[in-house]
Order: sequence, then C-alpha cells, then structure tokens
Amino acid sequence: MKGFKSYVPVIISILLSFIIVLIMGLTNVKNPNKIEELYNVYIDGELIGSVRSKSKLEKYINSEQKNLKEEYNVDKIYVPNGIDIEKSYTYKGKILSEKEAYKKIKENKSFTIKGYVITISNKEDKEEKHIYSLDKSYFDKAVKNVLYTFENKDNVTKYRKNNQDEIKTTGSTIENIYIDQDISIKESFISTDEEIITNVQDMTKYLLFGSLNEGEEYTVKFGDTIETVAFNNKLSTEEFLIVNPEFTSKNNLLSPGQKVSIALISPVLRMIVEKNVVEDVEKPFETEEKEDSSLASGTEKVEVEGVNGLQRVTEKIQYVNGEELPAVITNVEVLKEPVKKVVVKGTKKSYSSTGRVYSGGGSPAVTSGIWGWPSISPYKITSTFGYRWGKLHKGIDISGCGYGSPIYSAGNGVVVETVSNCPNQGSYSSRCGGGYGNMVWVKNDVGNIWMVYGHLTSDVLVSTGQRVTKGQHIGYMGNSGSSTGTHLHFGTYLGGQDGTGTPFNPFSIY
Ligand SMILES: [Zn+2]
Repeated sequence: MKGFKSYVPVIISILLSFIIVLIMGLTNVKNPNKIEELYNVYIDGELIGSVRSKSKLEKYINSEQKNLKEEYNVDKIYVPNGIDIEKSYTYKGKILSEKEAYKKIKENKSFTIKGYVITISNKEDKEEKHIYSLDKSYFDKAVKNVLYTFENKDNVTKYRKNNQDEIKTTGSTIENIYIDQDISIKESFISTDEEIITNVQDMTKYLLFGSLNEGEEYTVKFGDTIETVAFNNKLSTEEFLIVNPEFTSKNNLLSPGQKVSIALISPVLRMIVEKNVVEDVEKPFETEEKEDSSLASGTEKVEVEGVNGLQRVTEKIQYVNGEELPAVITNVEVLKEPVKKVVVKGTKKSYSSTGRVYSGGGSPAVTSGIWGWPSISPYKITSTFGYRWGKLHKGIDISGCGYGSPIYSAGNGVVVETVSNCPNQGSYSSRCGGGYGNMVWVKNDVGNIWMVYGHLTSDVLVSTGQRVTKGQHIGYMGNSGSSTGTHLHFGTYLGGQDGTGTPFNPFSIY
C-alpha cells in the first residue's frame, strides 16, 4: 500500500487529460489554435497537408474518377499506392479542402482499383513476372485455354476424368499435367498505371504472347505455303497454327492477298505435359563389308540387300508448351529383325581404279551413304530444325539413347574445336560452351559441311586437329550446357561454325 500513494499524482494527471480531450471533442471548437482531430495526407512519406475527414476525401476521389470506373467497369476507385492518410491530433501543415487534396494527389499519383496481382516465378532463374487482373477467375480460365492450344482438349478431359484409352499397340497417354513455376495470386490495390487485364480473352493472349500488343500481319503472296510463311517469319508451323486458329493443318491452302497473323509466341507459363508414348519405328539394317580379290579394287557389289526391321519403342516424353523435351526410352521390343546388307569390295589392284569421287559444290544435298547417324538406335528426334518462340533451333535434338551412350562422327573430317570442361549435369540457365556444353566441331571433307555435336559428357574422345572418320566414337551423349535433359544437339552448317556458317536441316543430307 505504500507504493500506491506514489502513483496517485500520475493517475490524476491521466484522468485529467482524458477529461480535456472529452470536453474538446464535445464542444467542437473551430479555433485553429486549438487541437482537433485531423488527417495528415502523405505522398510517399512526405506530408502535403491535412484534411478534416478521411471518408469525405475518399468519397470525393471515388466520385471524381467516373472515367476510371467506366474503363474498368468497377464501382469503386481507391487512393493511389504510396498515399497515407493518418489520423493526427497535432496541427502541422495547411488544412486542405477535399478538392485541393484530391488535386495534389492526382498530380502525383495514379488512382487504384481493387484487383489481383498474379506473381509467376521461374524455379530455375527466380525471375518474377507480375500480371494484374481485375478478377482472379480470368487466370484460371486462361490457363485452360493456353493448355488447349498446346494439347488436345479431349485428351486433357480424358486424363482429368481418368478414362484414357489403354495403349494396346501404339499410341499415347497423358501421365501428368502441371505448371513448372511458382504462382501466387493476391488481392491488392492496383495502380491504374499498370496494364490491368479485364477479361479471359486478354488474359489468354497475355499468357501466350507475353503482351497485349497486336501482333504483326502478313499478306499472302502467290506460291506461299503455311510452312514457308511460318519459317520466313520466325515461327514454327505449330506456332503458326496456334496464332491462326482458323487453319487446322499445315497443308491448308493459303490464297494470295489473304492476311495471316505472324505474331511471335512468347509463353509466360511453362506448361508441362508428360506422356507415355508407344510407337513403331524402323530398326535400321547394318552393313557388312567383305573383300574379294577377284574384283578390281574400287569396285563393289551388293551381295545381299539390307532390309530395315521394326521395333516397338516406349518413351516417356515431357512437353513444355507443346515442345518436346529430350525423351527417355523405357522399353524396346523388336517386332521384326533387320536383314544385314552385305557388300563385296574388290581388292584387285588396277591402274584404272577411280573410286568414288564426291563433286561437293556447296550444296547440303549429299548422296546418302556418305553420312552416318551420330547416335545409337533406337533414338527419338525431340526437336527438329526450325523456329521455336522466335528463335531458330539450329539443328536437331536426338534423345532416348540414354546418358553415356556413344556419339559417332557423321562424316570424315577434321576436329576444329572441342569443349570438355562443362559440368555433366545440364542446367537450363548454364551457357557453358555457348549453351552447347561439352561439344565437338568437325569440318567435314565434303560439301563444305561443318557439324556440331553438343551437350556431350565431359569425356570428349577427340581433340582439335585430329582426323575423324564416319562412325568413329567421339564422345558420349550427355546433358551439359543449356540442356533440359539427356540428348545430343546435332547441327549441320554450310561454310563454317556457328556465326560464320549457315545452319541447315541435318535431315537434308540423309
Ligand atoms: Zn538442340
């Protein structure tokens, strides 16, 4: 009880101040020298003045911004982000009317509406993208639309309902569908400075093209086909069909004068579809060479014609926005064994022997037989030569043979460059070896053709200056550099390496 007495003066003074505040509130004195309840208005932390009523200022803003309400079809406009309106009893600055405060705010900032911020971040590089949407349902619906541009809607529905047809001979089933990114959706006040998406159609467009800008158009000329128009405008034919949904196949005819879209696809999402695929592919025959001393040297004859066999190959394939990533072959069943080709070569010395001479001439159309295949069989071509998302894929991707499977030189030539110091495990963001990782560049003897074998393991078996022959083991299939799975990037160029030479479709030499 001794302590209580010493608190008495403190308690009394607290009570007194309450009474003073109470009296002031009741009497509502208009004397500016006296303390009254005000709201200080701050723009980015800087006081611009005070208003008497926060709610009146908010109402004023809401009533003045009719145009914004109409534009976004919303019934309320809010103060900009960065504006703070704080209750205060201390008289500091100028007292502003609602109109004056509104004007000052408007000069400095854009007003806000209630909406959603959709944040999409990549798992690999942590890059973040923000999308502003009036309603969050637009995003969910647009994601479905995007999926349907890359994957057949019926297949997706069957997968969702768990009633896909079982593969009896050949065919494919969807095993998984997901977005390989972190996505968060938060309600927020969004500045009307931002591009705010107000319908599903725009959201779909944004997710596919990365912008709402109108893409370019092209006027069809005589002789154009979907394939040539697409390639000349940096689109794959699949992308052309996505941006021009009125066409259903690359074989559809174009008519001169017709306008088509050549908008570049730049998908915001990484939409992954995983499939189990069973297909029958040829099993190539092998060639056996026999020597015959009764035949003149340089001559050869085919004793037995080779016949390809057939094998049923089961693969797991991941598609990113419709594009195949390196496949993994999980099973091979031989349906029909190939028949070995037997060639008899003469060894009898003759002065008139000429052998085979290749005319060269700078054209990549080289006779078959000169070139070997760089991987073992079976294999899967998961990315062909051509444009993807506005970038030229300067070669083909061969996968399915497995990590560490041998890579062979496709022709005779000289090794002009090797890279073997990249980590074996690929990373999407790693630019080791200019993206090709561990690699071998060969300048071939014929046709002025240069070849690159990319994404190898670091165990590269050849070195610069070394001669290689067709079929020579030069390295191992790997996943180094900018690679999304075990595969060989096989590129063919005319006249030089990447940068100086002209890339062409490797299939044109086979
Ligand atoms: Zn590639």
